[in-house]
Amino acid sequence: MEVPKIVVRYCPYCKKHTKHKIRREKVGARKRRALAQDQRRFKRKLKGYGGFPRPNPKGREKPTRKVDLRYQCMECKREHIIGKGFRVKKFELKSS
Ligand SMILES: [Zn+2]
Repeated sequence: MEVPKIVVRYCPYCKKHTKHKIRREKVGARKRRALAQDQRRFKRKLKGYGGFPRPNPKGREKPTRKVDLRYQCMECKREHIIGKGFRVKKFELKSS
């Protein structure tokens, strides 16, 4: 799949169509909240004898990775997301 680097899209901040730069978010760039309740519970579970509480996931690995796109408005320079990440085998940002 090829995607142009600059597209005209609706910007929710400017409330009109503007040019947007597309950026691909890096995998795992989103940070977990380190002290969220589930993280604290999970840490406690890892402590002591017994190790990892869940069995290893079965099944083969997925052949594709998810692509996560960010749209940056060139007028107000703010970033927003349109839709969710999707799976493609090949992803390219076309410069033209
Ligand atoms: Zn904008």
